[in-house]
Amino acid sequence: MRTQKKITGFLVLLIFFFSFAGSLVPSAQAAEAKKTYTIATDTTFPPFEYQDASGEYVGIDLDLLKAIAEDQGFEYRLQPLGFNAAVQALQSGNVDGVIAGMSITDERKQTFDFSEPYFDSGPIMGVDANNSAILSYEDLRGHRVAVKTGTEGAAFADSIKDQYGFTVITFDDSPQLIEEVKAGGSVAYFEDYPVVAFGIAQGNGMKMPLPKEPGGSYGFAVNKGQNAELLEMFNAGLANIKENGKYKEIVASYLGDSFASEGGEIEIAATAKMSGFELIWTSMPAFLKGLGYTIYYTLISLFFAFILGLIFGSMKVSHNKVLRGIATVFVDIFRGIPLLILAFFIYFAIPQALNFTMPIWTAAILALSLNAGAYVTEIIRGGIQSIDKGQMEAARSLGVPYGTAMRKIILPQAIKVMVPSFINQMVITLKDTSIMSIIGLVELTQSGKLVVARTFQSFEVWLTIGIMYLIVITILTKIADRLERRVSRG
Ligand code: GLN
Repeated sequence: MRTQKKITGFLVLLIFFFSFAGSLVPSAQAAEAKKTYTIATDTTFPPFEYQDASGEYVGIDLDLLKAIAEDQGFEYRLQPLGFNAAVQALQSGNVDGVIAGMSITDERKQTFDFSEPYFDSGPIMGVDANNSAILSYEDLRGHRVAVKTGTEGAAFADSIKDQYGFTVITFDDSPQLIEEVKAGGSVAYFEDYPVVAFGIAQGNGMKMPLPKEPGGSYGFAVNKGQNAELLEMFNAGLANIKENGKYKEIVASYLGDSFASEGGEIEIAATAKMSGFELIWTSMPAFLKGLGYTIYYTLISLFFAFILGLIFGSMKVSHNKVLRGIATVFVDIFRGIPLLILAFFIYFAIPQALNFTMPIWTAAILALSLNAGAYVTEIIRGGIQSIDKGQMEAARSLGVPYGTAMRKIILPQAIKVMVPSFINQMVITLKDTSIMSIIGLVELTQSGKLVVARTFQSFEVWLTIGIMYLIVITILTKIADRLERRVSRG
């Protein structure tokens, strides 16, 4: 009987958990009414997409998309995910289209349908402006070269690395390539010509010793055979804004008139490097917002982790073999899979397999809750089992029912044992939210990445972000310590 009750309770909670996640997925009917397209983009690919100082997403791609949507009268929601994540999100059907300086290549054409090309590009090698040793690909022999995951630049580096005898290291974001070269980890990086040239014109301290390689032009992508109407509108809008001069105006506003007219030199005024203090001061609102999200995701995830922990924890100490087995499988799976893989699986793989869309934050909360839930389960099991078995036996022999003995005798003592581990888990989950920046979740780490992308001042940014995590975690641990003392006194 009791077991049955427990199983029913468990099922109810599980349904609650998943329907909460499910309710975050916009229903198909709602989407029918007036289709708002979800369009993914890179987070940091200036001058095509990046956050400006006020936290607004700007860039040639985004201005073009806006002008085209206005021209064609369609609505869209932008999702800055990072390049590789954007392409995967398109493939898994989580988004309707991608505009991210995405090169039209034969290989990609097998999976995606592309618009007419809207910008010519091609990879080029960038090296530190002070480095006079790397002037040709030959000079790369025995060195390391940085590229961005899944890009044309990466494919090009791979294609020549054996011939020239260098190794390749991949990063997820464009600014990391420059940081890597500045820090001396790699001697060069391969990235699209307009992006490298724009960064150099902005004063990022790099140079281009060689001319650019031939490469694909940029196109707007949808999944093969899907969203054909969106692609048509994009093409029609692109033709219109080329016709009426809007296209040229947008390109000129980022790369200068001469570039826009004859494809000549990029002319932009170098942005003055801000002092560290100024940079932190102007970025603080974005950081604080990111921190707010970090705390918010941590609390929600811990709430669900706690529920999961209570359910599976009590299953683990039950006398029923089947329940114990189920709980053990739960812990083994979610403690065994690295959090990052779990996030990828939930965000990219499940929606693709089951053909639905999942918002990033639902995926992030699911991944964090399941992972922390496995640990909380073990904390609860350990806590309960640390209490001498004799106490339960004594209570039972005095005729106290199992549930009452658990609630009144075992749990009050067990909780004292569990509290320090809970605090530990809270700190871990808070730090783990930063991993979710990989799937594009906007939280503190992601806010930092975005500012580095714009300013190339990584030292100041990562120092500040690190200190912010430290402050919050210290405050939380202090509060928790107090709580712990009160619990152990009471
Ligand atoms: N044009 C490159 C590609 O499509 C890089 C795009 C990007 O990094 N956003 O692979």
